[in-house]
Amino acid sequence: MAKKWIDITQPFTNTIATWPGDTPFTFDLAYTKYETGSVNIGRFTTSTHTGTHADAPFHFDDNTPTVDQLDINVFIGTALVVDLSNKMELCSEDFKDIDLRGAKRILLKLHQEVNFEEFPELVPIIHPDIAPFLKEKGVVLLGVDCPSVDALDSKSLNTHHSLYNNGIYIIENLVLQNITPGFYEFIGLPLNIVGADAAPVRAVISKIDD
Ligand SMILES: [Zn+2]
Repeated sequence: MAKKWIDITQPFTNTIATWPGDTPFTFDLAYTKYETGSVNIGRFTTSTHTGTHADAPFHFDDNTPTVDQLDINVFIGTALVVDLSNKMELCSEDFKDIDLRGAKRILLKLHQEVNFEEFPELVPIIHPDIAPFLKEKGVVLLGVDCPSVDALDSKSLNTHHSLYNNGIYIIENLVLQNITPGFYEFIGLPLNIVGADAAPVRAVISKIDD
């Protein structure tokens, strides 16, 4: 049977949730086919942190790579989907029994359900100590199904920094609610926006048979 890919990307709609105070996503037709006589031409505006996106370290540190400078190889490869949706706090201890079998990406299911149109009031606390621990296991990418790997009101962004300092890239707002834990092939490439602090990602996975 041909390989089946599953979309784990939040759909961009004009009602998708935005960080409070940040630029909302909007799409409309700048020119209609009726007006031009030949084509519809759309346009969109968005915060770089709306919907499913990759954070570049430039998001939280001025003298670090922007999204166009990230290694695209990190965004393609084997990933393990882990369900920790029963936890409100996570630390390295929670990963100690996980067998990655060489997978270099972890996608964390932290919520049983996510409403794309509502910005959450609370996200699980991910302790910065997971970063050196996961690096030790060879992890290069951490994906989550919420808008931040740090507390929503964090100003120091310790977990973002710790992940970057340990060579682990971040993808936020993945859609994992209907995904069974296990091993998948993963592709989730950020748009090549030169100089950007983050960029939208179209993320897809395909189950690997055990
Ligand atoms: Zn972000």
